[in-house]
Amino acid sequence: MPQTKTPAAGPLAAPRQKADPIRALILGGTSEARALAARVAGDARLYAVVSLAGRTSAPLASPLPTRIGGFGGVEGLKRYLTEERVDRVIDATHPFAARMSANARAACAALGLPLLVYTRAPWSPVEGDRWIEVEDNAGAVAALGEAPRRVFLTIGRLGLADFLCAPQHYYLIRTIDQPPENDLPPRYDLILERGPFAVESELSLMRETKIDRVVSKNSGGRETYAKIEAARALGLDVVMVTPPRGGDARVVHDVEAAVAFLFGEGR
Ligand code: NAP
Repeated sequence: MPQTKTPAAGPLAAPRQKADPIRALILGGTSEARALAARVAGDARLYAVVSLAGRTSAPLASPLPTRIGGFGGVEGLKRYLTEERVDRVIDATHPFAARMSANARAACAALGLPLLVYTRAPWSPVEGDRWIEVEDNAGAVAALGEAPRRVFLTIGRLGLADFLCAPQHYYLIRTIDQPPENDLPPRYDLILERGPFAVESELSLMRETKIDRVVSKNSGGRETYAKIEAARALGLDVVMVTPPRGGDARVVHDVEAAVAFLFGEGR
């Protein structure tokens, strides 16, 4: 994957010409950001850089230049956007990446830059679903209750430590990368795997491990929805953590709307 400092646009760079490519920052780490990168790669009207937090050890390759690592809060992001002369920002981070999204809103508002949130729509319960909706991991722990359960814990690597206070349960934990040892509960099995997952394999997994409750973030999208379908088929309760509330930035769920924003007027 190309990793880059965006070239030739520091504060001393020549004044912008109308024909210069639009300079965009895409905050990524999601399949939406990858879809958008694939859609605009090679378009000479645009110079877009994808930004990753650097959480996963082997991020999937991107066809766009990629920078990795935090910016250093709102001030660091403002500095980056100014130095790199970014014209517009797409926040295509995961719906639960609340801090990055808040920083993007604050930095863009301060600099007067257009910002669009391109994210997946959350799942909605359908007939047969048995969801217990909670606001955060503490709510999920409470919803699991006192009695020991066999829990399929699919909330990602970050936040596992929130379940240490409920050691009476057995946890089947699935993450992309190895979680820190100290975040793991006393009784668990760990699967290191990246989606997409199929309903049949989710059903077999949950049956074999005798899961009786699923804990999931309501992340939306197809890639990890199979566990929800499997839980429905098995009549299991799903403790569903709802996404944090965003601010007032425009939100789209469609890649073409994100492309239109990138090439829109008003830079
Ligand atoms: P977060 O809590 O909102 O962000 C924490 C800090 O990580 C941010 O303040 C920022 O550091 C840095 N950061 C986050 N996303 C970044 C990006 N795309 N580029 C550069 N820096 C970034 O985020 P998180 O929940 O830890 O998620 C981190 C990344 O993983 C996100 O990019 C997200 O799209 C992806 N992801 C998250 C989840 C999830 O469930 N949370 C699931 C799948 C993928 P500075 O303040 O130093 O700039």
